[in-house]
Amino acid sequence: MDFEISKQQNMIKNAIAEFMKKECTPEYSRSLDIEKKFPEELWQKMAENDFLGISIPEEFGGSGGDILDYVVTIEAISKGSIAVGFGFFLTVCFGGKSIGFYGTEEQKKFFLPKLASGKCKFALSLTEPGGGTDILGAMKTSAKIQGDNYIINGQKTFISGADVADYFITVLRTDDNPKKKAEGISVLIVDAKAPGIIVKPIDKLALRSVSACEVFYDNVKTPKSTLLGKEGQGWYQLVSTLNNERIGVAAMATGMASGILEIAVKYAKERKAFGKPIGQFQAIQHKLAERAIELEAARGLLYKAAWLQSAGKRCDIEANMAKYFASTVGFDIVSTAITVMGGYGVTEEYDVARHLHIAKGFTFAPISNEMCLNYIGMVGLGLPRCY
Ligand SMILES: Cc1cc2nc3c(=O)[nH]c(=O)nc-3n(C[C@H](O)[C@H](O)[C@H](O)COP(=O)(O)OP(=O)(O)OC[C@H]3O[C@@H](n4cnc5c(N)ncnc54)[C@H](O)[C@@H]3O)c2cc1C
Repeated sequence: MDFEISKQQNMIKNAIAEFMKKECTPEYSRSLDIEKKFPEELWQKMAENDFLGISIPEEFGGSGGDILDYVVTIEAISKGSIAVGFGFFLTVCFGGKSIGFYGTEEQKKFFLPKLASGKCKFALSLTEPGGGTDILGAMKTSAKIQGDNYIINGQKTFISGADVADYFITVLRTDDNPKKKAEGISVLIVDAKAPGIIVKPIDKLALRSVSACEVFYDNVKTPKSTLLGKEGQGWYQLVSTLNNERIGVAAMATGMASGILEIAVKYAKERKAFGKPIGQFQAIQHKLAERAIELEAARGLLYKAAWLQSAGKRCDIEANMAKYFASTVGFDIVSTAITVMGGYGVTEEYDVARHLHIAKGFTFAPISNEMCLNYIGMVGLGLPRCY
């Protein structure tokens, strides 16, 4: 057994840490959140440094890294700025990985080099107003064939980065009367600027540099060639890419939490009360030590799930465990950091409280932790399906 990451992964980690320190200062990250602005310039610099293509195959303009490289990258970016880590995840996981798994040669040749060079961004257009957890029950958005095109009508909600995306990975119904709810669903790569699409950002309290948006499709025309994978098989395709998504979310939560824990530890060493650094009080020290243990355990689960996937082994249960645990620990770490920092924990200057909503968000999006537990109970422990 070897717990070391490879030399190459260590290089990626250090290069990104250095890049983030230089290019994405806390002041810059804060200003993006306050101004609700996606970091376009930084995105281009990330492309120039070959970070966007780390897990894209070399033949399509990337560096050919695997899921472990992808995890190291997301974790390091998210430690520097969760907003940038989240933007990376949306494009590389929802766009790059989906096209990598199910795209035709033409689609891969067209999209992946553009993605790696920072020329296109993606958003996942899946959740509907009727509900995200029971998405199969809620899904009303549909597409009908007309000549060489699909015509899309419907509405999606909470679509992250929809206002800056060039393409939507849109999941919809192509059969209104399927035998099973999971059948008759397809995935289309839709041009985000196509006539008939309206994008409206939703006001939210967290991660404001990456908007969550309502997306309306009103008779939107997209060529048949934009179908990703097989018509009617979209749900099964989506399910098979979910492990990647779970692992990616765990990597974001772990990276973000490690950055926040560092801020809290530094503060505990510097802040004095009763003539001592507050980190000398056992009540403070033990809290931080407990969170450090939990973070290390979360990272262990994350790397195990990623390693299993990278070795071509089954990783569905571990991916759900990793997502569940990293998001739970992430929230606890932000909450503890605020306790340790008292009033300064909720100031703009320290950027800690800003992460509270984000950390909570990871416990229910893109899949809720209750559904992770349902999956682990049912598939991992063989208990009866509870929903
Ligand atoms: C900031 C943000 C960004 C997002 N980005 C995207 C995006 O880019 N693309 C996209 O498509 N969607 C996105 N979403 C949507 C996200 O995936 C959904 O919010 C999530 O799936 C939960 O759906 P819901 O909000 O409709 O809650 P609901 O499905 O209504 O669930 C509410 C509660 O009920 C619980 N629950 C429901 N069913 C069960 C059950 N069977 N057993 C136990 N508990 C259950 C849930 O766990 C949850 O706690 C985003 C959401 C947010 C807040």
